[in-house]
Amino acid sequence: MTTLIYVGIGLLSLMVVGLIIYLITRPKKKLDASLEYTTALNYLINDQKKEALDKLRDAVRNDTGNIDAYLKIGDILRDQGFHERAIKIHRGLTIRGSLDYRQKIDIYKSLIKDYQVAERHDKALKVADKLIEITRGELWAKNIKLKLFESAGEWDKAFDLLKSLQKIKGKKNKQRLALYKVEAGVKCIGEGRERDGRLKFREAIKIDKNCPPAYLNLGDSYIRENRNNDALIELKKFVTQTPEYGYLAFDRIKEILFNVGAFGEVGNMFRTLLSKYPDNEKIRFALVDIYERKGQLKKAIDLCYAGLEQNADSQLARRYLVRILTRRNEKNEALKYAMKLIDDLYHQIDDHFVCKVCGYESLEPKWHCPQCSEWNSFLD
Ligand SMILES: [Zn+2]
Repeated sequence: MTTLIYVGIGLLSLMVVGLIIYLITRPKKKLDASLEYTTALNYLINDQKKEALDKLRDAVRNDTGNIDAYLKIGDILRDQGFHERAIKIHRGLTIRGSLDYRQKIDIYKSLIKDYQVAERHDKALKVADKLIEITRGELWAKNIKLKLFESAGEWDKAFDLLKSLQKIKGKKNKQRLALYKVEAGVKCIGEGRERDGRLKFREAIKIDKNCPPAYLNLGDSYIRENRNNDALIELKKFVTQTPEYGYLAFDRIKEILFNVGAFGEVGNMFRTLLSKYPDNEKIRFALVDIYERKGQLKKAIDLCYAGLEQNADSQLARRYLVRILTRRNEKNEALKYAMKLIDDLYHQIDDHFVCKVCGYESLEPKWHCPQCSEWNSFLD
């Protein structure tokens, strides 16, 4: 019995000794690789890419199976502008046999970015298709493809894909679809095909009747072909359809009507608009502008005063008043509004300190930006 116990103890101690020997002599490669890799990751967090790259290279030298290290080496090289080398590394990874699902996805995502930076859009799209295939059509993968269509300016394909995506999600975003049509139209016009472009703009309006750039581009296209009346019809339609954005068309409308000498019509149009939207400064001062151009300075000034009654701080009102009062030789009154404008200017300068990095505004200079965490970024 005791011999059995001794044998048992003997075996146990052999196992312990064996374990200790294994722990001391086991191949150090793995340990080193993961140490280098961890150090590299910390450098990456601090955005020290050069140091990270050195450590990652050490890591793969010690362990050629460290896929993630290779992946990151490629990513850094791409960020440093060596996209062809990044492509080579990332493509090399795709043919490895030992990849797990996450690694495959990460590699394809990196490869897509490489091809994008290298402006090889066809290749990027092919990889995106692979990504969609291995994720069995995950929406996020299809969204990557959508972004690729966008950056390649393939607006018709982007339109079809977004439409099918919206069908799957059951959410309809008419605005984006219409904007794709607008982009397609702008592209046509860039290629000298005004008529095709206008067809696209009309399709956009059919999808979203409140799509500002569709009307504006349609108007511009007619203006380029000296079809001012057609342009005017579209622009007026736009102003009545979306009065809140109508001001975007004001300059074009004024330009056309002044060119054809239709002062009366342009005045009427803006007066009607102003009576509908009396709070809208953009309409008010478009009308002031018209009165001024027609030489009806008294009417222009009265409209400015009315504007100041609604909004005592209106800088637009003061600017017009300075100019128009000067034209009427009412220099003291003009000076009064000029002084107010200058006061405002100083007030703005005194009041604000702005982070030079992220634009965060503060009444006091901050020494450590609360938004972007930059140091000493508020003063010159
Ligand atoms: Zn900041």
